[in-house]
Amino acid sequence: MSFESLNLNRQLLINVKKNGYEKPTPIQRATIPLVLSGQDVLGCAQTGTGKTAAFALPILQRLMQKMPAEDEPRVIRALILTPTRELAQQIYDNFVSYGEKTRVVSCVLYGGVNQLKQVEALHRGADVVIACPGRLLDLMNQGYVHLENVGIFVLDEADRMLDMGFIHDVKRIAACVPQRRQTLLFSATMPAEVEKLAMEVLHNPKVVKVNPVSSPVEAIDQCLYYVDKANKKHLLASLLGGSEVENCLVFSRTKHGVDRIVRELKRAGIDAVGIHGDKTQSQRQTALNRFKSGDCRVMVATDIAARGLDIAGLSHVINYDQPMEPEAYIHRIGRTGRAGHTGTAISFCCIDEVKQLAQVEKLIGRPIPRRESEWPMTVFTPTEPKPRLPRGERPAQVTMRGEAAEKPRPTRRAEERAPRGGAAGKGTAPQPRRSRMPERTAREGVQPAADRKMPLPVQRVNRRRSRG
Ligand code: AMP
Repeated sequence: MSFESLNLNRQLLINVKKNGYEKPTPIQRATIPLVLSGQDVLGCAQTGTGKTAAFALPILQRLMQKMPAEDEPRVIRALILTPTRELAQQIYDNFVSYGEKTRVVSCVLYGGVNQLKQVEALHRGADVVIACPGRLLDLMNQGYVHLENVGIFVLDEADRMLDMGFIHDVKRIAACVPQRRQTLLFSATMPAEVEKLAMEVLHNPKVVKVNPVSSPVEAIDQCLYYVDKANKKHLLASLLGGSEVENCLVFSRTKHGVDRIVRELKRAGIDAVGIHGDKTQSQRQTALNRFKSGDCRVMVATDIAARGLDIAGLSHVINYDQPMEPEAYIHRIGRTGRAGHTGTAISFCCIDEVKQLAQVEKLIGRPIPRRESEWPMTVFTPTEPKPRLPRGERPAQVTMRGEAAEKPRPTRRAEERAPRGGAAGKGTAPQPRRSRMPERTAREGVQPAADRKMPLPVQRVNRRRSRG
């Protein structure tokens, strides 16, 4: 089957060719006609299958059929929600490339960066908005975004959105989108919560299933090394030193782990960049750009980079730590072996991770072939978790200079016994409670609403009109 037979218009066919796509992938063959006919779609598609073009091309075509006149203001007609900033940026880049010379304007909204440019893009007007839920809600609350004209609503990576605690945000956003709309929901896995969400947001959807998540792409060569925790760094450096590793994405379970691995690799003379949720968005984007451009051939990441990221020609993925959830294994290794290329996924497993490995192998339905290295496993006793002392008995933290960083916090009981107005003693005035930034706002680096000095929203006029 060719793209021509999918009834895409001439400009989109030219753009598809420019991207080097010759034939539609299975998800594109199944989804494009459904979206063009206005159907709701529930897509269960493995990452790297060409899912973005499967919804972006028909959305562009539908928007092109009803373009506003030159003098009419642009309103948001398609909204795509996605869980991570990098994925939002990637989908936006795809929309720009697939939509070249179509007059359809796209805009991307995510946290961790100043909102000014995003607000300016909204002022100029956009037909398509690709957004992470947190920043979108923030801009909606400030009156910069209005969704009353959205006719196509896409929830990408719905299961990931649930994982990241976005479900309430998603529901709040969905409630602001008109009921009469076309909804497309994509998810690599279909846990019960995603099915429940699907029932709430979709109307008579057509179900499209392509390669369920429990079957990792066949093109990926998988193998596993049993290795002690302390020797993982040596094994990693030796593998990365090999000539067959062109570029490699290394997954660690924790943010500290990412920083430590990057340090150790640099010490071993291997340049590496790190990416995790505590880095600023500009650090994350710079690291990703260096890695994607080939300037640095090793990127170490938490599972933040496990989903959706498209790194052209990634030759290796290394699971330095076993993932907490077995599904993450499929997503991690899915960064390689994309778009018809082959790839290698190497996993490390120490004695503390044997249980997680068993879960991964159960999910994929077969054992991962073992390999041996010069650092075989020698520790067979799992590490005992350290017992945690009750709060009041924990030693004070000590700074680099050897001073106590802060007094040990009193136990809850002691706090309860303290008189109201503070435990500091007689005559102390009660201290006002410090307001806390909501956790996600803090993570995305957004200022609290009261501190913002932003230009007035331009779309106020529309909003007043729509409220009647
Ligand atoms: P996605 O699953 O949308 O992230 O796409 C994965 C990769 O497949 C991206 O690099 C796309 O550029 C590429 N791709 C998408 N559709 C096609 C196609 N029909 N033929 C070849 N490559 C494609």
